[in-house]
Amino acid sequence: MEPMPEIHTAPVEETITQPVTDDGDHDRFAHYVRKADAARAAVEGVPVRAICGKVWVPSRDPKKYPVCPECEKIRNQLLNRSNN
Ligand SMILES: [Zn+2]
Repeated sequence: MEPMPEIHTAPVEETITQPVTDDGDHDRFAHYVRKADAARAAVEGVPVRAICGKVWVPSRDPKKYPVCPECEKIRNQLLNRSNN
């Protein structure tokens, strides 16, 4: 397995992307994933890892689902850090 890049070393503009719907659990949330991961998943059908750590294969566009609270928290932390 190839190692996943560390979240805190990635530029925010590369980290913050459109939410991707989690279609695997009973609780459905839109998670934030890296653009590169989302693009790769779309092309290769490989799983993506959200910034909260969740891994799944995205199969639908995010629509009515709430944003994952953990992703939202991490996203805000990253944004605050970048604005310093
Ligand atoms: Zn999440």
